[in-house]
Amino acid sequence: MARRISSGPRLANELKGRTLREAVNLGISITFCCDDCDRKAFWPWPYMKRERKFGPWMSKEIHELANKLRCAACQSRNFYLRPFRYEDQKPPPGAAPR
Ligand SMILES: [Zn+2]
Repeated sequence: MARRISSGPRLANELKGRTLREAVNLGISITFCCDDCDRKAFWPWPYMKRERKFGPWMSKEIHELANKLRCAACQSRNFYLRPFRYEDQKPPPGAAPR
């Protein structure tokens, strides 16, 4: 029986125990994946570095930031933060030529 677990924010292992500043300094961009509406958002590291709203979070661990976040589309707190992957920018399967 399939059942959805309301897990709250989840973090990829690569982001655990890191501050936002560490991620930015390592050049890690973060992808936000909503569990409830499949919204995906992508925060490039140069954007996180200059965006004022991330300023107060720079010295905090990423999981602390995650606890304050909600999905911009459905307000869900069930989402997954992980490092950006190249395929996050690719068109969905079937849409690409060739
Ligand atoms: Zn959502």
